[in-house]
Amino acid sequence: MITFYPGPSKIYPQVAGYLQDAFNEGILSQNHRSTAFMGLLQESIELLKQKLNIPAHYHVYFTSSATECWEIVAQSFTSKGSYHLYNGAFGQKWFEYAQKIAGGNVAGQKFDAEETIPVITEAAGEFDVFCITQNETSNATQVDVSKIPSLNALVSFDVTSSMGGVALDWLKGDIWLASVQKCLGLPAGLGLMVCSPKAIRQAEMIGERQHYNSFLFIHENFEKYQTHYTPNVLGIYLLNRVMRQVENIELVSKKTVARARDFYEFIVNQTSLELLIRNTRVRSDTVIAIEGSAGAIRLLKDKANTAGITLGNGYGAWKETTFRIANFPAIDDWEMGQLKQVLIDF
Ligand SMILES: *Cc1c(COP(=O)(O)O)cnc(C)c1O
Repeated sequence: MITFYPGPSKIYPQVAGYLQDAFNEGILSQNHRSTAFMGLLQESIELLKQKLNIPAHYHVYFTSSATECWEIVAQSFTSKGSYHLYNGAFGQKWFEYAQKIAGGNVAGQKFDAEETIPVITEAAGEFDVFCITQNETSNATQVDVSKIPSLNALVSFDVTSSMGGVALDWLKGDIWLASVQKCLGLPAGLGLMVCSPKAIRQAEMIGERQHYNSFLFIHENFEKYQTHYTPNVLGIYLLNRVMRQVENIELVSKKTVARARDFYEFIVNQTSLELLIRNTRVRSDTVIAIEGSAGAIRLLKDKANTAGITLGNGYGAWKETTFRIANFPAIDDWEMGQLKQVLIDF
């Protein structure tokens, strides 16, 4: 079965061997304060920074999921409040979590999926964090981070379905959050957070230490390459191995962007289907949403199933009339080719 589901998504086939290696190497029975674990954690962070071109002065942390990172942003980086710009289901969920947790002044602005992100204007000192879903998996749109101005407040980007798939301009953000089951081609259960020194200073000023996952506990332990609770050692090990295997993000990104462009052109020129997002400037490079009548989409899914292909369901309001295609690096070009065969005379 070939899967184009945008999360959980296709896992690199090499992971089968890495799982066996993890078992054989004995790392899974190691205590998380052992030198073996500390070595693994340090090396994994260094590999991730090297392959994804994360600036040396930025810090990398592992959590359990991207959803957990939303809560960490609300708990540990927010005291006055957060401002959320969103155009789809994931951005909206983040906003809703923040409203429940942060207490203070949590405000949101919804923009249309066809529009570029609204210009951010900062009222002095009103918010601590601006929260933006850089790649909105639900409707296959992306935000151009170069359009975000420098602010006094922190800028946090949800890059769950783009980190590892496209190059990111890390200096444009202070808190980047993601998880591994999308563009990183790994099994779910590990979240990622990348923080600027400014973000760390702000968390220190706020000094929040009320939760098992308060950022300061995570940070202080990661400084020693330790964790304060027993972590997902297997997840970290697999990430380490996949990071060794993949090319630098500049190369990966070129391929992702070129393949997205090719696939968008294919849909427009060689099928009777339509793209959900008409504005080429906001279409995602890593998640593609295709629209048709409910009847056509149902037929197409059946046809794909018979051909051994799983398509991603549409999300929320678009459930019946769209489907989504993950354009993630673990998916091979020949798999995209098979998908085209199913779509071509539809
Ligand atoms: C999948 C996804 C999430 C949730 O990730 P989890 O690891 O399941 O918490 C959050 N944001 C976006 C944009 C996503 O695509």
